[in-house]
Amino acid sequence: MSRFLHSKFTSLTPYDTSEEVESMKGYIRLNTNESPFPPSPKAIEYAHKASAGLNYYPDPDCRKLAEALAAKNGIKPSNIVFGNGSDEILSFIFMALCERGAAFPDITYSFYKILADLHGVKYKTIPLREGFKILTEDYSDLNGRTIFIANPNAPTSLALDSGELELIISSNRDSLIVIDEAYADFLGKSAVRFIRKYDNVIIVRTFSKSRSLAGARLGWCMCCDEIARDIRTIKNAIAPYNVNAMTQAAALGSLEDEEYTRRNIAMICRVRDNTKSRLREMGFEVLDSSTNFLFAKHETIGGPKIYDALKKHRIIIRHFSEPFVLDDWNRITIGSAEQMQVFLEVLKGVVEREGR
Ligand code: PMP
Repeated sequence: MSRFLHSKFTSLTPYDTSEEVESMKGYIRLNTNESPFPPSPKAIEYAHKASAGLNYYPDPDCRKLAEALAAKNGIKPSNIVFGNGSDEILSFIFMALCERGAAFPDITYSFYKILADLHGVKYKTIPLREGFKILTEDYSDLNGRTIFIANPNAPTSLALDSGELELIISSNRDSLIVIDEAYADFLGKSAVRFIRKYDNVIIVRTFSKSRSLAGARLGWCMCCDEIARDIRTIKNAIAPYNVNAMTQAAALGSLEDEEYTRRNIAMICRVRDNTKSRLREMGFEVLDSSTNFLFAKHETIGGPKIYDALKKHRIIIRHFSEPFVLDDWNRITIGSAEQMQVFLEVLKGVVEREGR
């Protein structure tokens, strides 16, 4: 740490990306919930064409994208704001819309805590119940705190139904409810209709998962005009050109090729369900996933042991050492059918060697 760092950041713990960097080196990457499929050919073609115009700044409002997404979601372009990944959108929200604090489940996307600390937001964590479930009754008396719900949740892979979400929204009219739908395409449902009914909801989405564009960094949020204006003000004060021209073009290509995304989602869900059955046959407890990953625990072999054994075979999954209740569990991203075949074969050997 240099002597120039502001004292308010000296104890900040950032997101640990060391494993992502390491996993670039020829590993089967089942650790960051990316898509195993390349972007749509149309996305690649459009990005390539856009590269010729990189001497100009990009459209700061991503207008073509806003129009396309508004039409698909039955809302207005003014209801949409874009970010450099949905992480940036979440950062804007923590920075500007959490004056009375934040609240989120104790087991959820780990970045919420980091962003809260970064922006000096006090937060309350709400314990999950039996089976890693979010109970709507636990989301009351939150005194205007901004509530973050990843739906489906990560790393648990479980989803609330829309009735449960609406209960949280309607019983907390004093709070802003942020529904992080990073994995909603695998669930096949979105809560977007609530933004027409309630003025205290933000839906956050990403092109990183189902649309195979994690490397392009594009996220967006949908909310009522008033909140969208607030978020846009923050964005334009930090990084007006936060979404580069090639990314805007690639995303437009992806939106013009829905069939490609639909096929990939269907394939990932098929491979996921097959992997889940095979894991259960090997003695794993596996939660019923609504995402592109599985959350699993073996009946006798500890989580770190499985993680280490797979890593020796150049397969990387995700292990969480905190909180302690997660120590026996691992999160496994669904890769291609071929990758999952290799994963299952290696894992079978591990279970035969290590299991009791
Ligand atoms: N929300 C959740 C729940 C996530 O798992 C992720 C990906 N790690 C993100 C948001 C951020 O995704 P991105 O910044 O790539 O859009």
